This record gives sequence, structure tokens and C-alpha cells, in this order.
Amino acid sequence: MSFDSRSLPGFIDEEKIESVIAATAKPDAVRVREILAKAREAKGLDAEETATLLQLDNEELDAELFATAKKVKQTIYGNRLVLFAPLYITNECYNRCAYCGFNATNSDLKRRTLSEDEIRAEVEVLERLGHKRLLLVYGEHPRLDADWMARTIQVVYDTVSEKSGEIRRVNINCAPQTVDGFRKLHDVGIGTYQCFQETYHKATYDKAHLGGPKKDYLWRLYAMHRAMEAGIDDVGMGPLLGLYDYRFEILALMQHAADLEKHFGVGPHTISFPRLEPALNADMAFNPPHPLTDSQFKRMVAVLRLAVPYTGLILSTRENAAMRRELLELGVSQISAGSRTYPGAYSDPSYDRPDVQQFCVGDSRSLDEVIAELVSLGYLPSWCTACYRLGRTGEHFMELAKKGFIQEFCHPNALLTFNEYLHDYASESTREAGRKLIEKEAAGCPENRRELVASRLQRIDGGERDLYI
Ligand code: SAM
Ligand code: SF4
Repeated sequence: MSFDSRSLPGFIDEEKIESVIAATAKPDAVRVREILAKAREAKGLDAEETATLLQLDNEELDAELFATAKKVKQTIYGNRLVLFAPLYITNECYNRCAYCGFNATNSDLKRRTLSEDEIRAEVEVLERLGHKRLLLVYGEHPRLDADWMARTIQVVYDTVSEKSGEIRRVNINCAPQTVDGFRKLHDVGIGTYQCFQETYHKATYDKAHLGGPKKDYLWRLYAMHRAMEAGIDDVGMGPLLGLYDYRFEILALMQHAADLEKHFGVGPHTISFPRLEPALNADMAFNPPHPLTDSQFKRMVAVLRLAVPYTGLILSTRENAAMRRELLELGVSQISAGSRTYPGAYSDPSYDRPDVQQFCVGDSRSLDEVIAELVSLGYLPSWCTACYRLGRTGEHFMELAKKGFIQEFCHPNALLTFNEYLHDYASESTREAGRKLIEKEAAGCPENRRELVASRLQRIDGGERDLYI
């Protein structure tokens, strides 16, 4: 079956979602504890269980939920945390999303599409900071098609410097493509294709998307299906929180994941949960119709960790440093750091101003500052790209992940990439603290890995790079 069509039926059952939310509105403590007991087995949750936990309104049960999420996160992911940076390639856009500073009617925004040389300059700056994984972000414009995007991705991969290294995984966040367009992106070796539905609630979607091709809800809803049809098996999805009831969005996201599983045998590789931030000339960003409180947000992240234990949870710098610290414990497994949300802003600091960025960044610390804090909190920063480069993606990755593979492969690879970071990019104080962490973590590796890890770490100390298992 092909999903390359504009007349597909959709699969979000709004009535069913509303009725599950209504039926679980007053969570009973006995039922909540049963669900938490099941969640500890890390096999995921169904819609009724997820809705029940999302509607907790009791501090004691919240504390139990948080403790369970921390435990599941620790068991599956350990203390690893994957780092990446967004790279904005263009802010030209002919859509009219009422919440985004890039919307076509914002005539105060200076439009910029990076040339190949400008992309190289941005990548060189990011490489000098130590980044190995980038998320390329694009507005939508007829001139900037899949062929052009594929070329920009190739430019990023080709920007290799003997001194500061190379980008090893390029993920992208761009408008939905046709299957043929996705194939072009797949052919240049993208990692994850990321696209947020923004809201799964059709009436709200229609109000938030006032013009341009993004108005077509169903075309966007089937974007991941088309990406998978084209061979891209790592996809990243998420709602834009604040547009509609977050409980509805999470349950709809689960229906989305289930439909992908039904057709392709695998759900999303990652989930993101951006909250609306103020953005230049974007009314809806200043007055979100359904704002989410911090405690609802934290509960939602903990519930997601339990509902989809093996799916990566991504947190951007939209949130401030304090909130990011809390969410790391509750389930987040990937974060961006040192982000700029205007094309060209890494190499030209004059663009590093809130009035031109896509939205206001809540955490503006540098990568090294973020790493120093992560180390002080006992997290192990990782730039590992081994799975993607060895073809361990999609269904294959999920199967391995469920067999404890993360501890045997991901943890050693995190140590190797962190050692590279300390040698090549870290400040003196971060290097010193990081070395101690590596020593401790290497000693604690599973026995069957200890020797291998020690010898690889030594090879990196001796100048070799890009070692992985
Ligand atoms: N143009 C593509 C699209 O819309 O899918 C990709 C780029 S768009 C800049 C990436 C994401 O930014 C959107 O999917 C949306 O979720 C998010 N975004 C837009 N405006 C935002 C705001 N004011 N605050 C937080 N996130 C926002
Ligand atoms: Fe354009 Fe994406 Fe912003 Fe909408 S969210 S205006 S499509 S860049």
C-alpha cells in the first residue's frame, strides 16, 4: 500500500480519545499503583493507563510516578545523555502558522537561506565546539525542494576538518515530502526525519494553520508513513504543546505510533514535546490557547517515559536550565545545547538576538557549560552515532534495545565519544571532571566489555578517533 496520496482516511479517533480521558478523569490510587507496577516492567502502557497517569492530581501519587519514571529511565538508559545542535538552514517560509516567527506574513523578520559556503562556515563553528550530531531545520518554500535539501545535507557531511572533526549524523526537521522526495533525503544518508504534527486535534489544527501547504492536516499526518515507505526507518514526532489539551495530544500521538507499527512494524525513534515560546509577530505564541503548567509538563514527560520506554525523548533549549535538569531525571534521553535558531547565527554572533530567532531560547549556555553541569550531576554525555552507521535502525534497533543492548553497546560508545570530546574540545576544568567520570564509568562496565573499553579509550588517548562498537 502506498501512502503517497492526498485522499487517505486518517487514523486519529478523536471520540475514542475524549472518551478515554473522560473515563479516567478521577484516578483511583489503587488503579494508579497497579499501573505503576506494570510500568516498572518497562513494557509500555496502553491508552487507558496513560490517560490515568496523565490526570493525577495528588502529590503523593505524583512522587510515586516520578520515582517509577526515574527507575525505568535508569534501567534502560543508565546515565547516558545524547547531545546535538540544531542548524537552521533557511527561515524562508510560505506557510502561515499562527505561532511561528517564520510565518509568511511576518514582514519584520529578515529572511535568510544559507548558501553552501555559509553552511560550511556554520558547520565548522559547530565542529570546533565538539558537535557530531546536527538537526537541520528548514522553513517551507517551493524554491527549496528535496533536491536542494539533499544538497545541503551533503554539504554538511562533506565539511570535514582534520583539526576539528566531522559531523557523523545529520537529522532533519522539514516539511512533509512526497515518497520520491523522502527517497532523495534517504539517499544522502539522513539519520532521523523529524516532523511535528503540532496538534492532532483537527479543529485546532485548522485554526492554527492559516495558509500555505501546511494547512493540509492529513498530508502532514501521513508524513511519517511516506518517510518509512521511502526507506527512512528512524522518524521523530511530537505535538507543539500549548495549542490543544496535552492529554489529547499524547493519546493521539500513541495512535499515530500504533498506526506506524501496524504498517511498518516500528513506531517513532524519538518523541519531542516543544512548548510554545514567544516568537516575533506570532500571536498564538504569546497567548497559547492551552498553556501547560510546569507540573503538568513534568508529569507528561514521566508518563511518556513509562508509556514508550524505548523511544528516545528529546528536549530542546526552549526550556530553561532548571526545568531541563528536572526533566533529565524523569526520562529525557537527548538534549540540544548551545543552540541558535536563526540561519547563520553560529558563525555571525550579530544574529544571536532574541528578536530574529525562531522563538526565545530558554537555555543559552554554551555546549561546554552544559557538559560541565551534566558531569557534575553524574550524567555521561554521548555523541555516539554507531547504530545509525552500522545499520542498527528502526525495528532492528528497537529489538536490540529491548535485549539490554543499550548498556552493552551504547554505554561503551558514550565513553569513547566523551573521551574524544575531552581531548579535542573541552575546557580545562570540564576535562578534569570528565576524566574522573570516565575512570569511574569504565571501571563499572559489564565484565565482558571492560577490557575492550579500556583498550579503545587508550587508543583515543593515543590520537585515534571515531572508534565504536
Ligand atoms: N517548517 C517545518 C515544519 O513546520 O514542520 C520545520 C521547521 S519548524 C521551524 C520546526 C518546529 O518548530 C515546528 O514543527 C514547531 O513545532 C516548532 N515551533 C514553531 N513555532 C514555535 C514557537 N513559537 N515555540 C516553540 N516551537 C515552535
Ligand atoms: Fe514555516 Fe514551519 Fe514556522 Fe510553520 S512552523 S511558519 S511551516 S517554519
